[in-house]
Amino acid sequence: MNNFEYQQATTSVEAINLIENHDGSRFLAGGTNLIDLWKYNITNPTELIDINRIAELSEIRELENGGLRLGAGFKNADTAYHPVVEQKYPLLSKAILAGASAQIRNMASNGGNLLQRTRCYYFYDPEVPCNKRVPGSGCPAKEGYNRIHAILGASEHCIAVFPSDMCVALTALDAVVNVAGPEGNRSINFADFHRLPDDRPDLDNNLKPHELIVSIDLPEKGFAANYSYLKLRDRHSYAFALVSVATALELDGDTIKEARIALGGVAHKPWRSAEAEDFLRGKIANAESFALAADIILSGATGYGHNDFKIKLAKRAIVRNGLMALNPESQLPGAQPSA
Ligand code: SF4
Repeated sequence: MNNFEYQQATTSVEAINLIENHDGSRFLAGGTNLIDLWKYNITNPTELIDINRIAELSEIRELENGGLRLGAGFKNADTAYHPVVEQKYPLLSKAILAGASAQIRNMASNGGNLLQRTRCYYFYDPEVPCNKRVPGSGCPAKEGYNRIHAILGASEHCIAVFPSDMCVALTALDAVVNVAGPEGNRSINFADFHRLPDDRPDLDNNLKPHELIVSIDLPEKGFAANYSYLKLRDRHSYAFALVSVATALELDGDTIKEARIALGGVAHKPWRSAEAEDFLRGKIANAESFALAADIILSGATGYGHNDFKIKLAKRAIVRNGLMALNPESQLPGAQPSA
């Protein structure tokens, strides 16, 4: 039996004051990953600060610059089915709906989605070492069963991947994360929010202690005409991605004016390659161009045995998803991309 205290905050300032003044406190929004971590004894909060009644976290509103602000407390399902998201940012809607189950999406918050932890099997087993759980204890995944693990950006200390679908789309869309903390408010470009493991795999992101995610801003450009999200996994639903790809294109006829390609399931953070996106600018949007871009994206990829297949899988997924982005209607269930 783990005893804990429970408090409700009604403002961001109150929530930050509460968490600063009680060691072992955790914010509670949807709690979907928190409960997993608690059950497996990975975390053991002594106090929960419920942030579900903070009004500014629950809003979703259009911004004067043409973008859209997603409250951190707004639920994943409500975000995916919001009419502005569906019309203007269908890539985000599709990525959210590819994640978890309907029940979890109904509970999970947008901010919590960014903060979910890896699904590495060893991380969830307190009986074995794990540098992410106990820094300095080791990484059994490197020599162990690593089918779901990273092929890009890993370190000798950790080869875990970040499991979110939503964040892959947010990376492709160049979202911005707005946070509040003891030192004030700040905004973090999405590409800089999560971090690679390096020698501190215990840190998943660049939040400072006691900072609270308040909202996520989407820029005006939503790539609603040419987009696709492809998630490849061991079973069709309620499974984390082995490889996922978010592709957003701006086309001038057959020519690519701008390309965004973000990968999930391959690294400790959603993965983008500026070199590959620069390469695609001005190229004809076809399988050959996407295949060459895929070679650039995967040029530094390394497998650890069981996950070697991910390198070829990721290359094929990039090509297939690029073709699907040319015709978003092809994403209807059962439809195949045109060659
Ligand atoms: Fe732990 Fe990372 Fe190694 Fe998994 S890959 S066992 S999370 S250190």
